[in-house]
Amino acid sequence: MLQKGKMVIGRRRFCVCACAANFAPARAHAQAVLASAGLADPALVEDLVAANRILFDQGVVDGFGHVSARHDKDPSRFLLSRSMAPGLVTADGIMEFDLDGNPVDARGRAVYLERFIRGEIFRLHPAVMSVMHSHSPAVIPFGVSRASLKPIYHMSGFLGAGAPVFEIRDAGGPATDMLIRNRELGRALATALGEHPVMLMRGHGSVVVGPSIRESVFRAVDVPGGRHRGERPHGERGPAAWRRHVPERTGSGPGHEDQRRPGEPPWELWRKKAMESR
Ligand SMILES: [Zn+2]
Repeated sequence: MLQKGKMVIGRRRFCVCACAANFAPARAHAQAVLASAGLADPALVEDLVAANRILFDQGVVDGFGHVSARHDKDPSRFLLSRSMAPGLVTADGIMEFDLDGNPVDARGRAVYLERFIRGEIFRLHPAVMSVMHSHSPAVIPFGVSRASLKPIYHMSGFLGAGAPVFEIRDAGGPATDMLIRNRELGRALATALGEHPVMLMRGHGSVVVGPSIRESVFRAVDVPGGRHRGERPHGERGPAAWRRHVPERTGSGPGHEDQRRPGEPPWELWRKKAMESR
């Protein structure tokens, strides 16, 4: 409800502008006064910083793209860097958000426009602990091809159930700029994701989710395009190996853990390389 320029929503209090405060960049518009869920586990923040650096170092993201984590003290909060290139993310830049995409303490920092991707996926999928979004050109062809994205080796087995393609026109009409710039579009995207760990976004990019930061990074790297492998959709006339894809593995939903476990060699190797390269 509105009271003399302030809007009270549950335990939260917002100063509002004439514009839609929930959907505006925090630096220029609403100054949310939200109680923090508390300091996040430093190990979680460290992993989130490393994840951003790794995704850049592994070629999954470039100047755009971002990875987030659900807050360990409150499942209705998530952690995401302030708006900056993922290869430059530091612990100081990690911010706390509620599931509506409101920053807890913006302090004038710019926030990612597409933070609604994370809030709505975390809201709709309780098992998801981390969300990665990229604009990697390598996955774009799969979003417009009649050939579906399939795994062709065991490390991509989590793709066995396929990857849906999000069509933003279904939710936003024919004249969007393709970006998930409000909660309604975020909700539509989270619904389309279903139980899949990966979803393509036509003409835009992809989202990858997992039960941990490390798992979402492992998956993101093993989706075609990671590590610059350069796969392309071939359809029925493509290589035979492409058609004989890895069969679906049971339990490959968004909260399912892959065979790899945190601390296994890839993470430490990738983290060391990514952190030392800056
Ligand atoms: Zn995007």
